[in-house]
Amino acid sequence: MKKIVLFSISIFIVMQTASCIKNDKDRETIKMLQAKIDQFAPIEIKYDDSVLDERQKEVVKNIYLAAKIMDDIFLDQAYGKNRELLAKLQNSTSALDKKTLEYFKIMFGPFDRLEDDKPFYGTAEKPHGASYYPADMTKEEFSTWIKNNPEQEKAFTSEFTVIRRDGENLKAVPYSDYYKAELTKAAEYLRTAAEYADNASLKKYLLSRADAFLSNDYYQSDMDWMDLKDNLIEVVIGPYEVYEDKLRNGKAAFECFLTIKDKDASEKLAIFAKFLDDMENNLPNPKEHKNFSRGKSSPIVVANVVFTAGDTKAGVQTLAFNLPNDERVREAKGSKKVMLKNFNEAKYKKMLVPIAELILDEEQLKYVSFDGFFNHTLMHEMSHGLGPGNITVNGRSTEVRKELKETYSKIEECKADILGLYNNTFMIKKGVYPETFDKEMWVTFLASVFRSIRFGISEAHGAGNAIIYNYLLEKGGFGYNAETQRVKVNFDKVYDAAKDLANKLLVIQAEGSYEGAKEMIEKFAGETESISVLRKKLEVLPVDIKPVYAIEKMY
Ligand code: ZN
Repeated sequence: MKKIVLFSISIFIVMQTASCIKNDKDRETIKMLQAKIDQFAPIEIKYDDSVLDERQKEVVKNIYLAAKIMDDIFLDQAYGKNRELLAKLQNSTSALDKKTLEYFKIMFGPFDRLEDDKPFYGTAEKPHGASYYPADMTKEEFSTWIKNNPEQEKAFTSEFTVIRRDGENLKAVPYSDYYKAELTKAAEYLRTAAEYADNASLKKYLLSRADAFLSNDYYQSDMDWMDLKDNLIEVVIGPYEVYEDKLRNGKAAFECFLTIKDKDASEKLAIFAKFLDDMENNLPNPKEHKNFSRGKSSPIVVANVVFTAGDTKAGVQTLAFNLPNDERVREAKGSKKVMLKNFNEAKYKKMLVPIAELILDEEQLKYVSFDGFFNHTLMHEMSHGLGPGNITVNGRSTEVRKELKETYSKIEECKADILGLYNNTFMIKKGVYPETFDKEMWVTFLASVFRSIRFGISEAHGAGNAIIYNYLLEKGGFGYNAETQRVKVNFDKVYDAAKDLANKLLVIQAEGSYEGAKEMIEKFAGETESISVLRKKLEVLPVDIKPVYAIEKMY
């Protein structure tokens, strides 16, 4: 008897210790997960349906229901075990699982997209080819199969098939078969939406996209998307980007942007469009370099997000997108850029304002404004269409892009940013913006430089911003106070310094000077002392926003 009691006491003690250790470990993990979740500042994305009539509301509702299906398909595309893991987490009552679920939803799976897909739930590694291919298939096996079965090449390399094992063999399965149940349902919602769509071009797109879900042929619906006209509801839904496929960047991920066009901004763009030739004329470069044959590039639409789904929602949020990717459609109709105004506003509030508060001269904080931020983004996009494009070097016809090689995107992004400022001062002179906008524009830009270079300057936008910051600092347009560790704009010098830099970049482009571009990058795109000091200060801030959609509470 005694023995038994003693025995059970010791078991009791062992169990107690084990559960204490487990609880401690869980508490640690929950803390770690919370820190990860806190990298994303939640913000409500409103759905203002007051601009819509009753029929349009039905259109939005049905597209939203189709978009939810894109969430589900992308979850499966990202990782074959995702649906199973999600169900497991959703059915669990443990505090740890609940916390895990929160981050799982942000990341669309158990892998941390901010840390090179390192697992935060379980220990399995993410397959490079996501769930597009058998997890154990190598690139070599894929190409060997095509070499031995050339008649299957088209199906295997299609963006819209998954590859599966079939006994000893490999086979390509069209999305329309593999996700038949999901895509049939999504097509039904799009057809219902089309019934309520009074805009003929939108109706056409919704119907042809519904057909594409079942036929697996997306060409016609991509063409119809480019033809959307006078539509208030701007939507894109389907398989597009190939980045989730890290094995061979070949398979497209499902996503949706459901948005409503922004009237004010669209009007502003129409005004800019009228000034395009004046702006080219006004550029601070030599007359013989002027280029009046551009500006007809891709149309720009400004819209407010109602809901996003799938690929685009996983991890970091995008501020704009440029589609379609089908080269045949791009050749026939160009591409369309959609800028997401309320996402810009969300990032402005949750990221830019806190950055400004940490690094700007306190006297100048009052000039930080959303207009300063967004109007610069708009003019940045317009400015890509200004300046040299096709050029002649030593009597040879060529393009800036070809001559500048790997330096091109850094120089081009830098050009668009500096001309964004330069052209906006021109718009002030033309009376499009009030005089007071001048200070807002420069100061807000200075803060936004640090939003771009916060995570490094190796990427094109970051490098372009570093060039502007370091150049203007050297010329006295910007000032850094090492004592307060804060920066400011010197209003009396900044315009001339910016003009000078704009001229240098435009000449590099017009001459197709690869050496000039390299020199500019080497001299100014580095991490200078003030950049490292200020970047360090920003480490406490969130990395991105986490959209919380109002429409999800409605339907
Ligand atoms: Zn750009």
